Amino acid sequence: MVTATRAVRGPQKAWDWLARAGSIARTMGSYALARRPEGVTNGLRAFRSLGREISSSLRGGAGERVCPICGWTGPRFAPAYYFDRYHDDIRCYGCGSTDRCRLLALYVGRDLACFFAARRRRVLDIGPMRYSRAFFPADADYVSFDLRPGVAMVQGDLRAAPFPDGSFDVWLCFHVLDLIPDDGAAMRELFRILAPGGIGLLDHAMNWDGPTEEYGAPRRDDNNHIRRYGRDLLDRLAAIGFDVDVVDVETVLDAPTRERHGVQPRRFLLCRRPEADAAP
Ligand SMILES: [Zn+2]
Repeated sequence: MVTATRAVRGPQKAWDWLARAGSIARTMGSYALARRPEGVTNGLRAFRSLGREISSSLRGGAGERVCPICGWTGPRFAPAYYFDRYHDDIRCYGCGSTDRCRLLALYVGRDLACFFAARRRRVLDIGPMRYSRAFFPADADYVSFDLRPGVAMVQGDLRAAPFPDGSFDVWLCFHVLDLIPDDGAAMRELFRILAPGGIGLLDHAMNWDGPTEEYGAPRRDDNNHIRRYGRDLLDRLAAIGFDVDVVDVETVLDAPTRERHGVQPRRFLLCRRPEADAAP
């Protein structure tokens, strides 16, 4: 993981702002097409926040936020918004990571440091992000995997993953299952390709207070996801054989660290394959 700080300056910074403004405009357009006026209103809030960010930066404020992935520093991260939600201080101007990604990067670098130090680990990055290689140690055996051609080292369908049993010690599966119609097949493959004693990092937007909601089709106003997982996801993973832990950011990072890296209150799932399988 890159830990050195690096300020993004000059033309690069201007380009980041321009790209961000374009992204806000595109998302607003998408919500307008979907007839979600709340999303358009939140887009206007995002524009105002971007304006404040630019103004603050031009005044030369000291860096208060640090991205643990790319090293960007600045007064605040950019906002992120959805049709019904708006969050300030989320998206890195340097690498585009959200606080969810920064939490995973910090978790792998800190809490899994001993796991990775024990021996050279085989890592599968499913649906890789352009910066997720940096989450893992440089000497890890890293393979990226995606359904789309040309974006990963291996192309394929997670429901029939082209890897032998127990091929990996770690997988990262970030915002993937909620795009797959037969997610049960994908979950069974996630178990099969993980070695006994291995660890899976699974993260989605979750409804922690209710059951999974199947949309029936990709929903434009929910990042084209086809479902929103609920708490029953934990039971489904356990039924396949995983030991599932909910990792809460507040137990992993202290408040100053959360603020410094712009990590909001959130949780993700740690799926361990037991050393001795008791799988059905
Ligand atoms: Zn960054």
